[in-house]
Amino acid sequence: MTRDELKAEMLRHLQYSFGKDPAHAQVRDWRMALSMAVRDRIVEPWFAATRATYSGQHKRVYYLSLEFLIGRLLEDAIVNLGLGQAAREACAALDLDFEAVMTDEPDAALGNGGLGRLAACFLDSLSTLSIPAHGYGIRYEHGLFKQSFHEGRQVEQAEDWLNQPHAWEFERAESSYEIGFWGEVEEKDGRAIWHPGDAVLARAYDTPVIGWQGRWANTLRLWGAKPTKLFDLARFNTGDFTAAAQPEEAARTISRVLYPDDTTDAGRELRLKQEYFFAAASIRDILRRYTSEYDDIRRLPHKVAIQLNDTHPAIAGPELVRILHDEHGLAFDEAVQIASATLNYTNHTLLPEALERWSEGLMRHLLPRHMRLIEQIDDWHARTTKGRTLSAIDQGSVKMGELSFMLANRVNGVSALHTGLMKKTVFAELDRLHPDRIVNQTNGVTPRRWLLACNPGLSGLVTETIGTGWEDDLERLGQLDPHVSDAGFRARFAAVKRANKAHLSDWIGREMGISVDPDAMFDVQIKRIHEYKRQLMNVLDVIATWHAMRGEPGLDWVPRVKIFGGKAAPGYQTAKEIIRLINDVATVVNSDPAIGDRLKVVYPPNYNVSMAERLIPAADLSEQISTAGKEASGTGNMKFALNGAPTIGTLDGANVEIRERVGAGNFFLFGLTAEEAMARREVPDHAGRAIAASPELAQAIAHLERGTFSPGEPDRYRHLAQILRHHDYFLVCSDFAAYHAKQRAVDAVFRDRDAWVAMAARNTARSGWFSSDRTIRSYAAEIWDVTPVEVGPGACVLAS
Ligand SMILES: *Cc1c(COP(=O)(O)O)cnc(C)c1O
Repeated sequence: MTRDELKAEMLRHLQYSFGKDPAHAQVRDWRMALSMAVRDRIVEPWFAATRATYSGQHKRVYYLSLEFLIGRLLEDAIVNLGLGQAAREACAALDLDFEAVMTDEPDAALGNGGLGRLAACFLDSLSTLSIPAHGYGIRYEHGLFKQSFHEGRQVEQAEDWLNQPHAWEFERAESSYEIGFWGEVEEKDGRAIWHPGDAVLARAYDTPVIGWQGRWANTLRLWGAKPTKLFDLARFNTGDFTAAAQPEEAARTISRVLYPDDTTDAGRELRLKQEYFFAAASIRDILRRYTSEYDDIRRLPHKVAIQLNDTHPAIAGPELVRILHDEHGLAFDEAVQIASATLNYTNHTLLPEALERWSEGLMRHLLPRHMRLIEQIDDWHARTTKGRTLSAIDQGSVKMGELSFMLANRVNGVSALHTGLMKKTVFAELDRLHPDRIVNQTNGVTPRRWLLACNPGLSGLVTETIGTGWEDDLERLGQLDPHVSDAGFRARFAAVKRANKAHLSDWIGREMGISVDPDAMFDVQIKRIHEYKRQLMNVLDVIATWHAMRGEPGLDWVPRVKIFGGKAAPGYQTAKEIIRLINDVATVVNSDPAIGDRLKVVYPPNYNVSMAERLIPAADLSEQISTAGKEASGTGNMKFALNGAPTIGTLDGANVEIRERVGAGNFFLFGLTAEEAMARREVPDHAGRAIAASPELAQAIAHLERGTFSPGEPDRYRHLAQILRHHDYFLVCSDFAAYHAKQRAVDAVFRDRDAWVAMAARNTARSGWFSSDRTIRSYAAEIWDVTPVEVGPGACVLAS
């Protein structure tokens, strides 16, 4: 597609799809016109992919996830379709600022963090690998809350991405399912019939997901809740307008908000309703598609693989058993066998508070038939494994992890370390009964978004050095390795990083009014704010460094810009105190004349996918400092390494594998191992001992207690100080000295520019394994038993 064709298409859509006169069009109108012009190019490969799947009778993958953290789609589609140059030129010809058009798109934030972003990267890779697949989720009206700071404190506002037309979705009014809740179960002739007491409609909204070079497109199908009866006209006519609208309100509530917390379950009943609503609609849709093609329901596992992204969709298991047994009339044991040959479960956390449990009472009330089936599944498991009585039902609650495990063909962890710990801890007993069921699938990220699109400077250098082809074969980055010893290559690599930093420095100046020196080290920690991720340890290091700089202003300090980003769950008080502390420290440090440009603290509000795309290419140092044993994998760590930022980190999650691949010499390791951490917690007063042994730490905590950063309110950080001294479960104190010392080692290497650039370049060269294409190939082979569909010539419009 040429510049002129694209321009003509934009003008056509502007006028005929949106009824706008070009003379009066705003950026938003142009962005929609460009989106439609690009979307038109996706539709034909999308149809072709569906036709190829039907005609070849290929097995399909269904990825069920309560979260999809997709971000913006326009630039991604442009990049995948190879329309980058045409789009830039078309915008220029229309006198539009290309970047302004791109950034006008709202960032679709239907997820909290890593788990949701993983689902989005997987969709991209499934399409790139031409594996027939659907993502299923909820079309939340309000995605993850918008974060701002008021006097340093996090303020949450409802996010409103659907307040304007959504460019990428197709509403399928004809695809709706009635989803029941409550009611009772009737036993008749030995069969159970559930009569729900209430119901809502699940309506499908489809977004095509185009793969690299437009070879294949899959569908992300999101469910919106609608009332089964629209409106109570009789009530309206009596003048009771609010009551008349009540059914619609009640239904809409189900798809209204994303739960702003991925580590505890909140809003009990509504959350369970959301889970059942989306799981049941998805199962119904999967079976409708299957039965339209095949007669024998017993062969379901040959044509369908369902992946549960964490336990949020776990009720899909009992729902599938219910339909097979109650509706298709299969014997119970056979129904369970078919369901568990079809279903697979990904575990994402070992944090006890994050392992989902539902009260038996609520479950029995909301889903009476399912509760009965869960009891039977439990009995079936005990009967068939002859295992000790190990139950998914415990002290009045249903344990969704155990339930998912019992009903799964494969259960996977998301990094080697995490999978090992799963086998040793939460699922030790189940692993003994089913020794082949647990497999590891280390996470990955899509190189199209996380290198090609977000870092045009570096991707240009990569292509000039090793040619194209790395975009969907990322291990080719290994060919860069020999170039790292070439001074010319290193100079170009350094120039790219410098330009990205200058660009970010301008943005920080514009957005936050803070001037930062692009030659300082950009030290970045961006992720959800959580005690286990230890942003607190990072701020303590800032405080200690600030204190030391004030003490010895004459020393030749390595200038640093400490960049933070991330949201705290609204009910998570300690995380919110950490946010406030970072902001308070920033206020003091940034205005301290004794410090000048040598230390700056920057915390731009509302971290999201687009901000990650802006910050990561400009990072020098990647902070991955979680308490060992607590971060299941991480994917942020992979994005940084890929973009040439060495890690300072613990042996946690995928850090372990990153270090193995980039080489121990290109990774700043510190801290307790997972095993040592467990042992340390048993040591009496471990925090007190660590504080006594580290004057820097003692001093930093004293500053918190003295109110150095909260003038006028010395008690503001007493609670955080108390946690550190007396309840340091996440071992901030125990790891602080090693962390602080390792930061000085980082300084020393950074001073040696050449050594630093070589280390950074080696991180890029050796990160190819962390492509989500590799992860998806591995799921395909080891879990789903699917192979990519060969795309013949002519199947795709770009080829024809
Ligand atoms: C990658 C990503 C995450 C996950 O980051 P971790 O450091 O792995 O926790 C979270 N949020 C956004 C917006 C991301 O892009």
